[in-house]
Amino acid sequence: MEKIIQQFLDEVKQRNQNEPEFMQAVTEVAENVIPYIVKNDIYYGQNILLRMVEPERVVFFRVPWIDDQNEIKVNRGYRIEMNSAIGPYKGGLRFHPSVNLSVLKFLAFEQVFKNSLTTLPMGGGKGGSDFDPKGKSDKEVMRFCQSFMSELFRHIGPNRDIPAGDIGVGGREIGYLFGQYKRLKNEFTGVLTGKGVSWGGSLIRPEATGYGVVYFTQKMLENIGTSLEGKKVVLSGSGNVAQYAAEKVIQLGGIVNTLSDSGGYIYDRDGINSEKLKYIMDLKNIKRGRIEEYIKQYPTAEFHAKKTPWEIPCDVAIPCATQNELHKEDALMLIKNGCVCVGEGANMPSTPEAIHEFTVNKILFAPGKASNAGGVAVSGLEMAQNSLRYNWTRDEVDTRLKNIMSDIHQSCVEYGQEDGYVNYVKGANIAGFVKVADAMLAQGVV
Ligand code: NDP
Repeated sequence: MEKIIQQFLDEVKQRNQNEPEFMQAVTEVAENVIPYIVKNDIYYGQNILLRMVEPERVVFFRVPWIDDQNEIKVNRGYRIEMNSAIGPYKGGLRFHPSVNLSVLKFLAFEQVFKNSLTTLPMGGGKGGSDFDPKGKSDKEVMRFCQSFMSELFRHIGPNRDIPAGDIGVGGREIGYLFGQYKRLKNEFTGVLTGKGVSWGGSLIRPEATGYGVVYFTQKMLENIGTSLEGKKVVLSGSGNVAQYAAEKVIQLGGIVNTLSDSGGYIYDRDGINSEKLKYIMDLKNIKRGRIEEYIKQYPTAEFHAKKTPWEIPCDVAIPCATQNELHKEDALMLIKNGCVCVGEGANMPSTPEAIHEFTVNKILFAPGKASNAGGVAVSGLEMAQNSLRYNWTRDEVDTRLKNIMSDIHQSCVEYGQEDGYVNYVKGANIAGFVKVADAMLAQGVV
């Protein structure tokens, strides 16, 4: 079996030189899915995984814009349309200097499995730019978004490809992107998700990824007869996902001890309660400040510059910043300090070596493609509401979100059983694969 997997990976690597993040995501899936394909006649001999690792289409374009000093700047724009077997392409846009083809292809590939797990009819895609919104004025961000959409608009549409937010793309950016799309197409359609509630957005969409990862984490704990109540939780990031994950942990009686940004992490041993979290939300979303400012407001807390929070003893860890932010040494430290459960809020935050440590030590470990699927699930619900020209209440959306996270958990349990231990990585990969592969086979050689 190892030889078959290696041959497959060699072939993929040959075609995708210098794409380490993409190869990392493909390797994890191949290790779980190829043994499953070999055991199941309907998939065997169809080169189905080889087809799935090849994007259906990649769009790559120039984004020129003018800054506040009247200087012309140039960034790169991308859209990866990975797989449309079960629905139109769906996935976020990331604006961050680290964006390149490898990062977006890994995200688009993961998105295919994630969207399949939600049970909603959505294919997978991802896009973005190496533009950095940090430190830019609102007007600069608007001019960039308008230029970006001036090319992207011809490739997307409510039945073709529906982008959303991701790192560096929040409500402000979605607003500017939507405004430009509407001007160019002269149409008010649900072409982006994450819109403002008064102009086509869904209630609970901003909260959905963070709430969803906590609902999933709670399900994993319930599966071993416990809950988040009274548990110490270490979180990374302080953006959209981290903020609402923290809010839900607090609501469910857990204690949030840390949050971070790329400057370092804060540790509040008394717990970050609702009032302190509101301060952080204002600091990040309105003032666009740095997390270290927290200790000026709450001097009993500590700030650890240029470090990640995994050294703080906890029961549960929820990484919500970015890919490869939790390494083998961090995993070993978490395990040594008593952590029993890890729910990924970010996409691929744990390295393969870290995941290996969690798995051999039988830690409950949920990969992002399962545990952070709440965001895209509510995006799917936003699309449904746009089509119906109707808005569901907060409770209706939240109940649907909870049910979807519970169903994803159940699929992982079904496909991930290993002698009494649930391997959620294996469960998510196989469950996500089956639905997409069945659709591709039914549609011929596509
Ligand atoms: P935001 O831009 O709102 O926040 C990102 C946070 O992570 C910030 O605190 C940022 O700090 C930190 N961060 C980003 N890059 C790095 C880095 N290289 N090193 C250290 N810290 C970093 O993004 P989101 O919260 O939306 O996304 C976070 C993660 O969740 C990403 O992996 C994203 O793909 C994933 N995700 C998001 C979904 C959503 O609905 N938004 C859906 C599913 C997954 P700083 O400000 O200093 O850069």
